[in-house]
Amino acid sequence: MNRPVEKVVILGGGTAGWIAAAMIARELGRGVDITLIESKRLGTIGVGEATVPTIKTLNAGLGLDEKAFIKAVNATFKLGIRFEGWGAPDSDYIHTFGTLGQDQPFCPFHHYVFRARAEGRDVSLWDYSLNFQAATRNRFAPMKPHPDLPRFDYAYHFDAGAYAAHLEKDAVRRGVRHIDALVEDVTLNPESGFVEELVLDNGTTVPGDLFVDCSGFRALLIEKALDVGYVDWDHWLPCDRAIAVQSEKLRTLHPYTRSIARPCGWQWRIPLQTRTGNGLVYSSREIDDDDAERLLLENIEGAPTTEPNRLRFRVGVRERPWCRNVVAIGLAGGFLEPLESTSIHLIHTGVMRLLWCFPHQGVSPHEIDEYNRQVRDEWAWVRDFIIAHYHLNRRDDSELWRHCAAMDLPDSLRHRIALYRDTGKALKACEELFGIPSWVQMFEGQGLSPRQVHPVAAALPAEELDAMLARIRHHIAGPLAAMPEHEAFLGMLG
Ligand SMILES: Cc1cc2nc3c(=O)[nH]c(=O)nc-3n(C[C@H](O)[C@H](O)[C@H](O)COP(=O)(O)OP(=O)(O)OC[C@H]3O[C@@H](n4cnc5c(N)ncnc54)[C@H](O)[C@@H]3O)c2cc1C
Repeated sequence: MNRPVEKVVILGGGTAGWIAAAMIARELGRGVDITLIESKRLGTIGVGEATVPTIKTLNAGLGLDEKAFIKAVNATFKLGIRFEGWGAPDSDYIHTFGTLGQDQPFCPFHHYVFRARAEGRDVSLWDYSLNFQAATRNRFAPMKPHPDLPRFDYAYHFDAGAYAAHLEKDAVRRGVRHIDALVEDVTLNPESGFVEELVLDNGTTVPGDLFVDCSGFRALLIEKALDVGYVDWDHWLPCDRAIAVQSEKLRTLHPYTRSIARPCGWQWRIPLQTRTGNGLVYSSREIDDDDAERLLLENIEGAPTTEPNRLRFRVGVRERPWCRNVVAIGLAGGFLEPLESTSIHLIHTGVMRLLWCFPHQGVSPHEIDEYNRQVRDEWAWVRDFIIAHYHLNRRDDSELWRHCAAMDLPDSLRHRIALYRDTGKALKACEELFGIPSWVQMFEGQGLSPRQVHPVAAALPAEELDAMLARIRHHIAGPLAAMPEHEAFLGMLG
């Protein structure tokens, strides 16, 4: 097809559909006609409450006011994810979003901590994380970057349905046409195979030039209509089911997500202002659904307030998330389990890329190839980060954990782990979501220690090393003492 794109049709009104609608309407709303179709009867998946810091970039790009957003979506602040029992059964660490200490001009900071430790000093990476120190004291207040301090960064926990509704208002105000109907059929052009129009159950049809498939796991356009295959990653990430349930508000609103390892998988706990999100992600080879539900319900704090929602998934990514004139975003494009809360981020970057490659003058195969290459790379980096949590475990209480500890890894991850084990060097590809502090915290938390001290860190005179470490701890102490309790800060927002 090489006609200009004037009509964009988004299928799906979940988080993916409304993020796509809001972003495309904001950037291109005057030039293209945008329609979003969803079936309220089918509903949305109804989970997706934890985020990573790039959500702030998304919200800022959409012009959302932070205070109004927090109120509308019942949000709390998130400084990281607490991993309980992921290394050894009694291990406990937080993958925080901030940085560690202060990188030196020619050497990342963590190498100095490893040097100090190798020489017998009682130091921890997290002594130099403002995020960690605030999180474990249940404190929160945003902080501007300061050259003497590690970067303090945060994301949110929120009500995903309320977030989609918040974005819907914005998108509709910008001219997005919203149709509540079931798509019953998809008409393809007999020559090009491009999607021409969607046939709705109300007897109408909706034609388009470009279709964004946000139909969730149903993948109505990319899979059912275009038959694009799926790359399965279940041999590395064996969990294939989840159960989600909400419960009463927690007594203490801690500013982090909890991820608690269980023999069959792991459990999440997400504090919102007025309720708690809970869930169990598990392998159906380890436990059946009824026992999994019992396990989850026995391990929540407070009474459940919803019926448990059972979900099945296939971990992997679409072979070609963009095929002909269909771009799959959100669950239609692939799924990585929510261990690091990355799905909304991947929706955001998927739409960013679509805007970057937007086919005004018609669809270029080169642009499609580039889009698909970038998506595959980005998903594989996140996949590797998640696999590493499973692989670097020291549990022996189920076949799941034993399998993960022994399994073959993707080459990319095998290389990262070997490099870190030998040298303490962590890698970050240029467009990768997780940076060096994330990889280092995860490796350290999972119990992987480097064999060598970096020569630049080793060359620093001992008294200068001690002075540097003491100075950073001193700089952190001031702002930490001034930070209010997380819940008190939420209260100040009104
Ligand atoms: C257990 C679990 C936990 C998760 N936790 C997190 C998390 O903490 N953080 C995070 O970022 N992400 C998380 N996710 C992922 C997150 O839920 C999704 O990425 C996000 O909700 C986007 O979903 P979606 O919009 O692609 O699909 P859905 O929410 O399923 O929406 C699909 C839409 O398509 C519509 N539709 C489908 N078929 C038709 C049809 N024939 N006609 C009309 N409309 C149709 C539906 O009505 C719906 O509006 C989690 C996912 C799971 C499974």
